[in-house]
Amino acid sequence: MEKYRIGVVGCAGRMGRLNLANIVNDEACELAGGTEPAGSPNLGADLGELAGLGRLGLTVGADPAELFGKSDAVIDFTLPAATVRHSELAAAKGVALVAGTTGLDAAQQAAVEAAGARTAIVQAANMSLGVNLLAMLVEQAAAALDEDYDIEVLEMHHRQKVDAPSGTALLLGRAAAAGRGVELDRVSQRTRDGFTGARRPGDIGFATLRGGDVAGDHSVIFAGPGERVELTHKATTRDVFARGALKAALWTRGRPPGLYGMRDVLGL
Ligand code: NAD
Repeated sequence: MEKYRIGVVGCAGRMGRLNLANIVNDEACELAGGTEPAGSPNLGADLGELAGLGRLGLTVGADPAELFGKSDAVIDFTLPAATVRHSELAAAKGVALVAGTTGLDAAQQAAVEAAGARTAIVQAANMSLGVNLLAMLVEQAAAALDEDYDIEVLEMHHRQKVDAPSGTALLLGRAAAAGRGVELDRVSQRTRDGFTGARRPGDIGFATLRGGDVAGDHSVIFAGPGERVELTHKATTRDVFARGALKAALWTRGRPPGLYGMRDVLGL
């Protein structure tokens, strides 16, 4: 079987560099190339050196259309507006996309969903096996525990993270809401400041911590009368997300158009 050609947009980012390294080290695929936006100091840099693997002879480009033209699948951990453009390119060229970017607003999410009608897109706010398993457990716990158990989602990430709450916190909040049979948007409490009054029954609360180099900690707390259940995941390395992203990219081979999630990829 021919090697699957995988490109990386945002290849000089924290996730991008890990994606480059994993693709190069996997026999099932080959690196098609990588891009960064115009003006990036990394344009022209060697992709192997960015990945910490030594020279590869492939350099960072600024033209995503060219990259999509020579890729079977592209992995995207960039910024929301860039992910929208990349999903449209993927749809136009019939290339699969793995979209890991978080913080998309409703219009940006709708654009990715529209692209998913034309090509295979795996989108997940968290690509790790552990978090996707946790989401299932949270859904079950929320279904089993009634509104006497207040649900709070707590997350901590490194100091460079630009969106809050994390996409994973929202994913876990959605899983809890699904277990309760409610829409997250109707019950989500994302900030508390000043004289807030008592907690509304049924709310799902979010709290955000930022600092240091934390790869991603998430807890979902079910606080009831006289007891608390806490379900926690801690990522000690971002490589769990990159490995999940590569697994998702390889999974798209021969897949019909559709917007898929990591539960599809992991068979959960
Ligand atoms: P980062 O800032 O280190 O990297 C982002 C890279 O994208 C940068 O190198 C930037 O120059 C590049 N970029 C921006 N616009 C671009 C464009 N138009 N074309 C090409 N490249 C472009 O950020 P990061 O820590 O790697 O995270 C990136 C995103 O991935 C964030 O939204 C983050 O929340 C998300 N993330 C998701 C998961 C997951 O499992 N789904 C895991 C970790 C991070």
